[in-house]
Amino acid sequence: MYKNKFLSYILLLLVLFSALTPMTVTHAAPLDNVLNTLAASTVSGQDNTSHGTGLLEKLFGFVFDKLLGPILNVFNNKSTTNTTHPVVITPLPSTTTKPITIQNNGVLKGKIIVVDPGHGGSNPGAVANNTRESDNNLAVSLKLRDKLVQAGATVIMTRDTDRTVAPEGSSLGAELQARIDLAETNHADMFISIHSNENPDTSIAGAMTFYPNGKSSALASEVENAVVTETGAVNKGTSPATFYVLRNNSVPSTLVEMGFVSNGEEAALLNSDSYRTKIAQGILNGIVKYFNNN
Ligand SMILES: [Zn+2]
Repeated sequence: MYKNKFLSYILLLLVLFSALTPMTVTHAAPLDNVLNTLAASTVSGQDNTSHGTGLLEKLFGFVFDKLLGPILNVFNNKSTTNTTHPVVITPLPSTTTKPITIQNNGVLKGKIIVVDPGHGGSNPGAVANNTRESDNNLAVSLKLRDKLVQAGATVIMTRDTDRTVAPEGSSLGAELQARIDLAETNHADMFISIHSNENPDTSIAGAMTFYPNGKSSALASEVENAVVTETGAVNKGTSPATFYVLRNNSVPSTLVEMGFVSNGEEAALLNSDSYRTKIAQGILNGIVKYFNNN
């Protein structure tokens, strides 16, 4: 590479020298022979009898076709076998593209998915470290909604603002039943409830995902694994549970506890936009994997 570059510089200097210096046959003939010798291994059908202006043409042709062409083509990573075509500079491929970890093959098209941000309104859920569970749940749910819609799903949000789903002042049972009703009356294919966890032991952190007691854990497993993969959170696994929205739901359902607001570090992550995006991406990946297998 550097050898070729150096050689082409020398030849360019020779071209300039030839163009600026009055040419005689005695100069031209030996130079022509040198060039023919240089080019012999790569150029076929060379006209050994041409002199004068023919020499300049050969110089230009040799320098640009045989040396500069291949050198420029190195950057394009193209074949150097055909050197007669103009060199086309194409942009280098981007190196910032993140590898795609899932096969989103349109499996979500036509699917009706209910996204349920836990709590809201007068019920903020777990509150610690300047983080309100209901805010985290809503922020991640809205990101998940956008990703699901982009993947072709029809999304029903149980709430998309900071409010209760049943009329304010209703019982907790009525509030939770209102969320299930949205899934069942719309014949949803999936119900996914988003929550944040808390524990008196502030050292506890990590994501865990629940499934209805006695029913399949496949959806919960896919979501848990995908969330952990995207976020790097501690994998606290899956578990059967008797939460109201799982227990009374005829729609395939899961409940994600994204992390612990009682843990200072995880609370800060749950508060951050970039971490919320990772969680939403993880949940989406898990849902896609689930539908690919079921
Ligand atoms: Zn909750």
